[in-house]
Amino acid sequence: MSTNDADNERMQLRWPIDDVVAFAKRHAITHGLLCLDPNNLDLATIVPFSLFPSPYSYSHLKFIWSIQTAYNRLYNRISLDDETLEKALKPVIPIDDFIERLWKIHRTSTRRQPIQLDIYRNDYMLDTKINTMRQVEFNTISSAFAGLTAIVADLHKAILRYAIDNCYVRELTMDNQQEKSSSIDLILPNDALKKSAEAMIKAFELYNNVNAAILFIIVPNERNICDQNALIDAVQKLKSTIRIHLKTFEQLTDELLLDEKNFNIYLKSSHDEIAIVYYRAGYIPEHYINEKCWYVREQIEQSRAIKCPTVRSQLAGCKIVQEYLTHENIIEKYINDENLSKNIRSTFARMFTFDDLEARQKNINLLRENPHDFVLKPNREGGGNNKYDDEILNLIEKQENHLNYYIAMEKILPPKCTTCLIKPNGKHLLHVECINEIGIYGTMVTNVDTNEEYINEVAGYLVRTKTTDTNEGGVATGYSVLDCLDVSENNNELSRIFSEKR
Ligand code: ADP
Ligand code: MG
Repeated sequence: MSTNDADNERMQLRWPIDDVVAFAKRHAITHGLLCLDPNNLDLATIVPFSLFPSPYSYSHLKFIWSIQTAYNRLYNRISLDDETLEKALKPVIPIDDFIERLWKIHRTSTRRQPIQLDIYRNDYMLDTKINTMRQVEFNTISSAFAGLTAIVADLHKAILRYAIDNCYVRELTMDNQQEKSSSIDLILPNDALKKSAEAMIKAFELYNNVNAAILFIIVPNERNICDQNALIDAVQKLKSTIRIHLKTFEQLTDELLLDEKNFNIYLKSSHDEIAIVYYRAGYIPEHYINEKCWYVREQIEQSRAIKCPTVRSQLAGCKIVQEYLTHENIIEKYINDENLSKNIRSTFARMFTFDDLEARQKNINLLRENPHDFVLKPNREGGGNNKYDDEILNLIEKQENHLNYYIAMEKILPPKCTTCLIKPNGKHLLHVECINEIGIYGTMVTNVDTNEEYINEVAGYLVRTKTTDTNEGGVATGYSVLDCLDVSENNNELSRIFSEKR
């Protein structure tokens, strides 16, 4: 018997873990914590999740919560400032076809719609080196999982209740009913879905045509359908008359009609005028399978439709822009509250690029001598692109000129926790050492001509947990699982009971 099997067996004496896991899966399936099976798109499978919420410090969460509206404003303003965007993107425009193409669309499009809708997600990890929350990246396009993250909070509450009620987990010492429910309530509620829908409705109203529709651009064979449909349901719950269309770029090549007089766009088949284009595709080159797909993107950008995001807002989310913002006196141009800009700056990890010829050799030497202290990140989204450790050394030795595609970022070292992961193959992994990445959703609806902010809100949070031997993140890519936070004062109690090896 392996050590793990022995541990499992001993755990079962106190935690009837299989019983709890079975309950958790029933709950997850019943409440739509699902995505499509990659091998058969007619079947659904559970989105991987953790069985219990991860203990987390409330003050760290509160801190990143408190700076999100300033972060929203910062990215909104960066996206509108061509000079800054161009300066930040300058090193990669000539060498990265994808960024160059987006930049060209932006520069050749006339702004015909002053209303801007953004649904952001700002990802962080706690850096144990300095006990500070540090930004991993700022997502401006396709900020996923707002539709599922609240389900995990409810799931964890249900699991805890079940464990306490049925499994005799007396170590939790719940003396009376009130104490029991207040402890479970300390799992934070999450409004990411509702607030994303509210922002969409606000933008829709400002478009000012009650008969118009919303268009979701999705990838072919999309698997994360419950997340996306949750947003559709939430929007239609707020305004039942809104029609929502789901199309891929390729489908739109024959479907989209741009009226060159008034710059409205329509879908040919339904004759619906499109008020909002919401992108859940378009953030990697592979989503544009031919020139016609690029033409679709160009037409939308030229149109009067409200885009979530605009090309310029998508570009503001590039990792090289994140690096540019760490330079002296940049964020201060946009945030005039000294304290806020100081707090935002405190979340920046050290970053550098390789385009400055003077600093290049020094930076390469730094990487070569300390490859474990940095991550190399290209200007791509969606996970699986970063380089670590030996991959960094290999790149330096074999393809040094490729370094220009990347930014180097100091590695964040998050604290470890022990948990139980439920994986899609139906297995559960007990007692795995994990780390958490926290995403804070921000919603913005603005008039970029008048600077009016109709909505600037912190919408909710996402927790993704992965084993410590995994470098990458991403739930859809299979690296991490959805999780939730226990920020109660005695939050280590559950973790202690659960992780104690008996
Ligand atoms: P994307 O999600 O666009 O591929 P990220 O910047 O989020 O790019 O990187 C992917 C994953 O790599 C993150 O979820 C995180 O787990 C890990 N990662 C990224 N930057 C760092 C860093 N500075 N330190 C440690 N891990 C990192
Ligand atoms: Mg990421």
